[in-house]
Amino acid sequence: MPLIIITGLPTSGKTTRARQLHAYLADRIASSPQNPPYRLHLISDQTQDISRTVYDLSPTELPAHVRSANASEKDARAALYGAVKRVLSPRDVVILDGLNYIKGWRYQLYCEAKNARTPHCVVQVGCSVEQARQVNEARLARRAAGTTSQSTSTPPAPADTASSSPTDDTENGGATMATEPPTDTKTETNPQPESDENDNEDPYTPSNWENLVYRYEEPNPMTRWDSPLFTLIWTDTPSQITTTFSQIWDSIAGPARKLIRPNQ
Ligand code: ADP
Ligand code: MG
Repeated sequence: MPLIIITGLPTSGKTTRARQLHAYLADRIASSPQNPPYRLHLISDQTQDISRTVYDLSPTELPAHVRSANASEKDARAALYGAVKRVLSPRDVVILDGLNYIKGWRYQLYCEAKNARTPHCVVQVGCSVEQARQVNEARLARRAAGTTSQSTSTPPAPADTASSSPTDDTENGGATMATEPPTDTKTETNPQPESDENDNEDPYTPSNWENLVYRYEEPNPMTRWDSPLFTLIWTDTPSQITTTFSQIWDSIAGPARKLIRPNQ
């Protein structure tokens, strides 16, 4: 079963969509006749305890020699890669929620899926730069007002089933989350974004955020490693989201999966 690579600008709604997709796939897996059932994993910076600061290569913050070494981000990618590799198999659905903004990195993930003889797809979360910037600015403002994760209750990071024991997944097809998504995301009909009051993610520093937007390498569906490419946008209605999720399911577990040739 496949690797689903989420990509998009910083603070464009990737985690929101990844959680909705996780809930949707958990339902599909639960009602699928597949035996043994697929296992479902959600891997992200949050599940791997990767801080926003690892991406900080902004010229105002770091000297050129440190930027070119880029060690903290390489370490972060290695951690994510290891987490994906540990669980990826024809029986495991892995949602990788993150920036995934480097095309060479997406190529590497695609090769990993091929090695594991399982399909992959890319889901781009589309959002205008201005909209995404506003989200980060709102987070910065909340942080400044002292209302971010440090002062609120349980963070909403979903379980990284990859980092738990493999046996944890067997009872319910691995479709587990430590923290449930907002109540209505379990249904196909109404996958709405969580409200801002529940948003306790850390912000990016403004220079880090701008630099990540500048470095973002858009997926190109003409390449093998960025295809099939699905797009979800900020203003998608619940029914549009459900349609896209259903297409994703078909491409990874439905009849469309059979079209994937082993040597493709
Ligand atoms: P990312 O993972 O890309 O940093 P998040 O999923 O954490 O982004 O979303 C950032 C904020 O934007 C959250 O407060 C979330 O509730 C809100 N949000 C995300 N997607 C939407 C959307 N489609 N419509 C409205 N608000 C959204
Ligand atoms: Mg996120």
